[in-house]
Amino acid sequence: MGFSASTVLNIPADVGWVLERLEDSGQVAYLVGGSVRDALCGEEPSDWDIATAATPEQTATVFAGQRLLPTGLQYGTQTLLVEPDEVPMGQAVSSCGSGRPRPVQITSFRTDGSYADGRHPDKVCFSGDIVHDLARRDFTVNAMAYSPRWGLVDPFGGQCDLATRCLRAVGDADQRLQEDALRILRALRFAATLDLGIDPSLAKALHNERQLLKRVSPERIQCELMRMLPGRGIQTVLLEYGDVLAVFIPEVGDTLGFDQRSPWHSYDVWEHSVRALAAISTGDPLVRLALLLHDLGKPRCCKVDSTGRGHFKGHEQVGAEIVEQRLRALRFDNESVRIVTELVFLHMAQLKPEAAKRWLSRLGEVQLKRLIGVKRGDISAHSEETVEGRMARMDMFEQAVDAALAAGECINRCQLAVNGNDLLAIGVFPGPVFRQILDSLLQSVVDDRLPNEREVLLSEARLLWLASPQYRGT
Ligand code: ATP
Ligand code: MG
Repeated sequence: MGFSASTVLNIPADVGWVLERLEDSGQVAYLVGGSVRDALCGEEPSDWDIATAATPEQTATVFAGQRLLPTGLQYGTQTLLVEPDEVPMGQAVSSCGSGRPRPVQITSFRTDGSYADGRHPDKVCFSGDIVHDLARRDFTVNAMAYSPRWGLVDPFGGQCDLATRCLRAVGDADQRLQEDALRILRALRFAATLDLGIDPSLAKALHNERQLLKRVSPERIQCELMRMLPGRGIQTVLLEYGDVLAVFIPEVGDTLGFDQRSPWHSYDVWEHSVRALAAISTGDPLVRLALLLHDLGKPRCCKVDSTGRGHFKGHEQVGAEIVEQRLRALRFDNESVRIVTELVFLHMAQLKPEAAKRWLSRLGEVQLKRLIGVKRGDISAHSEETVEGRMARMDMFEQAVDAALAAGECINRCQLAVNGNDLLAIGVFPGPVFRQILDSLLQSVVDDRLPNEREVLLSEARLLWLASPQYRGT
């Protein structure tokens, strides 16, 4: 049971060659984990993992003379870099890019001991049995093994769960999450990216055990969060598991079920945010993140008027402060924090076509496009009757932005028809006034008060210089 010799998966020749080398030396070897799961779904796996009965030392002997890196020796893992020319002639290598070596992780079959820290096994034991190795894995869809020689090994019903679109823990869900709390976020990530439903006992355990996430490093939380957001199933997952995200972004907890009391909104704050995120197809991960977090300031800013309607004045500023603090705690890099915080701060901005150049000048093309993405996501998650008109206005704004870009309009200092040397030539002293004059010229050009022409700008610069305190002090 659980073995199927008839399943045949398409695997690259060089990965097959690694399996064969191990088998030829008398060691059983299988593809395992995500590579089997993805290949069964007909998708190209992002990485190739092999599990083998060989101990790490035996693996090193089999691949003596080749590049075998000790990438996780305490857990029995080494990474073999397979050079295309190492694979025998006649076995066409489906390349990993243009002739670059393909990294293949080789891990000895193992069982994990106890997990005192709730994250890592205290010790691992090598085992000769693939089923033991599969039993330590997190979810049934990740607990299958395959070899061209032996076929599919599927002791926990992963193939059936893939077919019925179900994410299920291997063994007792609570216990598996208690062993390693990162599995809580891995579950949400796989459910979102593979668009799987979550089995009821795993679902219950995810809610029950969510506080264990406090043991997981902020870097790992950040990584899993960012990987789940583009998933096809993200809306379903986040609507159900907002309480899990609230463990590391506590303000999410206040938005769950928070009634906006507004004719503009059909959804509570969290559902609105999740729908806004799910509505956009932009490739930019920071736009998704900004949409997820854009209304975190609302619960704190809510005022209900005498008619019972909710108002949220200033929520974008409060939200930006919360977001900055939470993203720093999750160890996002400074630039990402700046970008997302600014998007949250500006998500209520009125973007009018006549101000397209000014917005371009203020934010730059990339960030303005991100802001447009945020506005579009936000608009589409409002009451249906408001969406069409507001989206049409956003189209007009974006057209004005594109037209300004296509026309090569001046939107930054480098595009001005005068530069620093010109200012020196008319006698401006180097110093703060220099930048002030260039900024002022740029503002005049962006606002269409002056044409971007050298002579016009030089005379304006002269006037500005003569009026400056620095000139008058000379
Ligand atoms: P992807 O590579 O797309 O993230 P994956 O399933 O390959 O998905 P990896 O992190 O590469 O995930 O791990 C490879 C395999 O190792 C998994 O499929 C799973 O069987 C096992 N695994 C990884 N992390 C854990 C964990 N925290 N607990 C239990 N098993 C795990
Ligand atoms: Mg993987």
